Amino acid sequence: MHEQLIKAALDAGAAKAEIIAVDQIITSAEFREACRKNLCGKWGKCWMCPPDVGDIEPLMAEIRKYKHALWYQTIGELEDSFDIEGMGEARKKHTRMSYEVEKNAETLVGKHLHLTCGGCGLCERCTRLDDQPCRFPDKAMASLESYGVDVYQTTKSTSLKYINGQDTVTYFSALLFDAKGE
Ligand code: SF4
Repeated sequence: MHEQLIKAALDAGAAKAEIIAVDQIITSAEFREACRKNLCGKWGKCWMCPPDVGDIEPLMAEIRKYKHALWYQTIGELEDSFDIEGMGEARKKHTRMSYEVEKNAETLVGKHLHLTCGGCGLCERCTRLDDQPCRFPDKAMASLESYGVDVYQTTKSTSLKYINGQDTVTYFSALLFDAKGE
């Protein structure tokens, strides 16, 4: 099943994917302070971003309920290191790819928790902006950081690289599975 999961990620467009133990995932509540600075502009503007996604401590505890994670990445090409537009496009592409992986997730692993980069991104305009309920609460994905995941430190214990060359941007997702006690 692990091989099938890696293949599902690579087939969807991931550059690299690996199965890791959830114990390898490093978390820190400090990521909520980084979100609060709102450099991405999504604070309070997406149901799957803080503060609406929930308090960080229970979300970090939620991660520990699983045993394994498919840890995967995409690598986007940029014109140069100031190519903000290119970074945004690469992030959208990564999010779309995560939803492709999600299509097979239930069949492959059953109960799971799937986290991506930069908030949900499933709808063009999140209904949070209009104070309406989430359109797809069963599909919407939160970011790794909103759950307190330290992507940089976690990636160090894998075969994937956090940085993949000049004028590239790398994004990560994690599909957590094998809920403990089930
Ligand atoms: S599924 Fe749509 S409405 Fe729900 S959190 Fe994602 S972007 Fe917002």
